[in-house]
Amino acid sequence: MRTSQYLLSTVKETPADAEIISHKLMLRAGMVRRLGSGMFSYLPTGVRVLRKVEQIVREEMNKAGAIEVLLPMVQPAELWQESGRWDTMDAELLRFKDRHQRDYVLGPTHEEVITDLVRREITSYKQLPLNLYQIQTKFRDERRPRFGVMRAREFLMKDAYSFHLGQASLQQTYDAMYSAYCNIFNRLGLDYRPVQADSGAIGGSVSHEFHVLAESGEDAIAFSDTSDYAANIEMAEALAPTGDKPTPSQALREVATPSAGSVSDVAALLQVANTRIAKTLFVLAEADEQGKQQLVALVLRGDHELNELKAEKLAGVASPLQFATDEQIRALCHAGPGSVGPVGLNIKIIADRSAAHLADFIVGANKEGYHFNGVNWERDISDYQIADIRNIVAGDPSPCGFGHIVIKRGIEVGHIFQLGEKYSKALKAGVLNEEGKHQIMTMGCYGVGVSRIVAAAIEQNHDDNGIIWPDAIAPFQVALIPMNMHKSVRIAEVTEQLYQQLTAAGIDVLFDDRRERPGVMFADMELIGVPHSIVIGERNLDNQQVEYKNRRSGEKAMLDIASVVTDIQ
Ligand code: ATP
Ligand code: MG
Ligand code: MG
Ligand code: MG
Repeated sequence: MRTSQYLLSTVKETPADAEIISHKLMLRAGMVRRLGSGMFSYLPTGVRVLRKVEQIVREEMNKAGAIEVLLPMVQPAELWQESGRWDTMDAELLRFKDRHQRDYVLGPTHEEVITDLVRREITSYKQLPLNLYQIQTKFRDERRPRFGVMRAREFLMKDAYSFHLGQASLQQTYDAMYSAYCNIFNRLGLDYRPVQADSGAIGGSVSHEFHVLAESGEDAIAFSDTSDYAANIEMAEALAPTGDKPTPSQALREVATPSAGSVSDVAALLQVANTRIAKTLFVLAEADEQGKQQLVALVLRGDHELNELKAEKLAGVASPLQFATDEQIRALCHAGPGSVGPVGLNIKIIADRSAAHLADFIVGANKEGYHFNGVNWERDISDYQIADIRNIVAGDPSPCGFGHIVIKRGIEVGHIFQLGEKYSKALKAGVLNEEGKHQIMTMGCYGVGVSRIVAAAIEQNHDDNGIIWPDAIAPFQVALIPMNMHKSVRIAEVTEQLYQQLTAAGIDVLFDDRRERPGVMFADMELIGVPHSIVIGERNLDNQQVEYKNRRSGEKAMLDIASVVTDIQ
């Protein structure tokens, strides 16, 4: 590719609305542009990376015996009614009507569609096991789209669904998918961890998430410093022995219920919150007679290790907030990394609620994540269970008995589930078994966030100058940077010759043939993260050489023109 014929679209300024580095760099490197909330157009450089990730995923799926299909993104409501999810899914499921007033959804996931397909196509146990996958756009009306393509509303996922006669066969495919996922993330060159997870809204029992480790990750994962034990924080809590101490949520409830509103309550809440690793800052306030917001509860559930959340510091901020205004609370929420985590503007002051309701609400919100934006507030609060305020902290003994708990931040890039019969039963998807009897199939499902991986890879691979792509997913492997090519026939010829040779060798080359100053070209090639650069300059040509620079190590070397292709490979 020649830059003169390409759409490079790099930007020098750091975009103001991007919070995390991958989002900033994807905008600056000309990879994506925002169309609307949680929706992105991919520019050519973005597409190149996306396709490379996709291809690795596809190859590993094929290798593991999965077969590619393509399912519609628009799905009839009847299937969702049949599975029951029409009623149980919240506003994340985007519903709409066609011209005939028939209901549809925009697919957030495809269990219903695939189960419908398979129940029609598969009739005999002889056709099982079967593992079908697709790489498809999903739409989830996320409550809080953010961080660019990391949490988008429209995003690209690889989703696979397997069908079996019985648990043993499911386990076999599940294990194969687990290995395939490890292969994928190894090939992508990412630092990741598989962790035990609970299977949430999708249903089922056994489940693992794959997390790319990064400070900006929205999730926390817990693992043992000396053994294989690893779980996401929710699962780690569920697995942690509690003894007969009241759970933190019970303790919290006690202090929150009777006489919320006084300073001492706030202090007590802080104390409870402070003994635990916590996820979010909850600020709950009621309006007093003068209409001022009165703080009734401040619960710190930061995503960060507790040493960063010193009790004294919190007590310090609590009392001035006794009569906190919306603005003050927001300011606190924006105190920055290491203090209160990703709460931001979503905090909403909740007025007109009793303290008892608030206690339940804290717990409900805990279960749901951190969204006080009122969308869910219509819902019946009594639905909420008492869930845990974090009851596991770094340094705790690992539940497996070996080592101690380490807690790190992660980005969920993959998730595999054993679904059992949840969907096949609801949709009556069965086959004739060996005895000629009708038997419901057992299912597994396996997701990879293809577009999220692109952002996650950047979180792990960048410096002050831009992205540093792992070779496997770089938009271009080699940049050819000629010095003043438009003034030197010799430079133009050598660069052209290298371009032809490298391209013929199957290498993705970006030939920077713009009439730009060298500084501009270097900066752009570093920004978009091309792993290998070759600089073609007059003086080195006298010795039949060009200069090589490695993006990651910064290491430079002189290469003979004749051996560039072999040296690069
Ligand atoms: P999250 O916890 O981040 O909301 P999820 O658990 O809802 O993700 P799954 O249903 O497990 O997601 O979907 C499989 C994969 O799809 C996830 O592991 C993730 O990599 C990706 N994914 C999910 N939601 C988004 C999103 N809004 N934007 C980009 N990728 C996503
Ligand atoms: Mg989600
Ligand atoms: Mg998740
Ligand atoms: Mg998940």
